[in-house]
Amino acid sequence: MIQLFSFLVGIVVGSFINVFIDRTIENKSLIYPPSACDNCHRKLKIYNLIPVLSYIFQRGRCSFCKSKIKIQYPIVEIVCGLIYLIVIYLIDNPLLGILLSTFLSLLLGMSIIDIKTRSIYTKHLIILFILSFPISLARYWIKFDLIIKTIFLIVIILLGYVLSIKNKAGFGDFILIAILTMNMYFNEISVFFINIGIIGLIIGITLIIKNKNIKYEIPFVPIISLSYFSTILLELLKIQI
Ligand SMILES: [Zn+2]
Repeated sequence: MIQLFSFLVGIVVGSFINVFIDRTIENKSLIYPPSACDNCHRKLKIYNLIPVLSYIFQRGRCSFCKSKIKIQYPIVEIVCGLIYLIVIYLIDNPLLGILLSTFLSLLLGMSIIDIKTRSIYTKHLIILFILSFPISLARYWIKFDLIIKTIFLIVIILLGYVLSIKNKAGFGDFILIAILTMNMYFNEISVFFINIGIIGLIIGITLIIKNKNIKYEIPFVPIISLSYFSTILLELLKIQI
């Protein structure tokens, strides 16, 4: 029962993440105007806005003009549903489970924005940073760790700053890594960097096979986010590398 509930909450959060993605890219307010069809711009009714189900019952098409609805909508909703289901199931502390799931859903949204536009928004990094504090506190933070972590964060940010001046590597990517390492255990951080290497390599090779210009094409937010998610998942499942 609790699993079904977590999944449903995740799906609803997923539909917000879709709005967050689209409106960030279109540079519009998150709240106003109400949702409308991308094609005919008619305001959607409540029954058009039920996550996943509306998509299935309308067979992936707008109920007014019959134009195709983006497949992104149901996919993001289902992925968020699964994130909530898995994370809340694996964590004993329900509050931490909800916080971490929300954190991961936001990362999913930022990953899709990065894939579509190759940008990281400072306001999103700030929200992540704020969310990262209670997660850190609930997970482990003790004073000694706090001092070392703070030094570690400053080193990463300085390194990111220097590298971003030299070859225009995204400074935002380094800030993102710094924020994510904030709520990880030390052993997780090493796993996290190994994962970034492996996942980055897989995505890099895939792009080369597809003949893309990888210097421009590689979106780092999805690589970093996937590495974070897999690191946390390994820890929750108590799998040692
Ligand atoms: Zn329409």
